[in-house]
Amino acid sequence: MTRVLVVEDDPQLVRALVLNLQARHYGVDAAPDGATALRLAAARQPDVVLLDLGLPDMDGVDVIKGLRGWSRVPILVLSARQGSDEKVAALDAGADDYVTKPFSMNELLARLRAAVRRTGDTPAAGPAATLVETEDFTLDLLAKRAVRDGKDVRLTPTEWHLLEILVTSPGRLITQKHLLNEVWGVSQSSKTNYLRVYMAQLRRKLEKDPSHPRYLITEPGMGYRFEG
Ligand code: CA
Repeated sequence: MTRVLVVEDDPQLVRALVLNLQARHYGVDAAPDGATALRLAAARQPDVVLLDLGLPDMDGVDVIKGLRGWSRVPILVLSARQGSDEKVAALDAGADDYVTKPFSMNELLARLRAAVRRTGDTPAAGPAATLVETEDFTLDLLAKRAVRDGKDVRLTPTEWHLLEILVTSPGRLITQKHLLNEVWGVSQSSKTNYLRVYMAQLRRKLEKDPSHPRYLITEPGMGYRFEG
């Protein structure tokens, strides 16, 4: 049974989440504040955490930092706030994904399943898969070979680096800051134009319709996601 820890101070939302999750055979614990969340996470060892960022006793980002001190449990953030800064802060602190309130229960459950699946895959599978196949292109990460419509596509080392980070975490939102750090060793948001330029190049080389990308998705103001 997959155990979910719901951290949320709105009792109505907690009730809805608990009912929906239990109906789908999840085991559910609920914490109304950050301190209870950290205690329950240690005591119950959940498989995934649903975390509201606006809690009565502490900032949700500090709950993430507290959890990340000892746990790699997937954390799905529930954020009421429209601004992207806070979501970026949550992702950079170690959250895996976010859902903006109000959300549909189906969307939430899909994100939850994806978060659980991703961590389920990584530890046992050893090195990440080296072959990425989509309907439109194939990437051999080991041989550094990209093929589209039967023809080799030439990618620069920087393009490979960027692409590799995205495709090895399919479906996951990777923040601009993380990509800038990994690829260019910088974290200044003033350099996000590097990312835009390189992502545009990658789309031109790999996407069938680069202006309506199907695989290399932009999350405005936040980062990028590879949809395999
Ligand atoms: Ca709240």
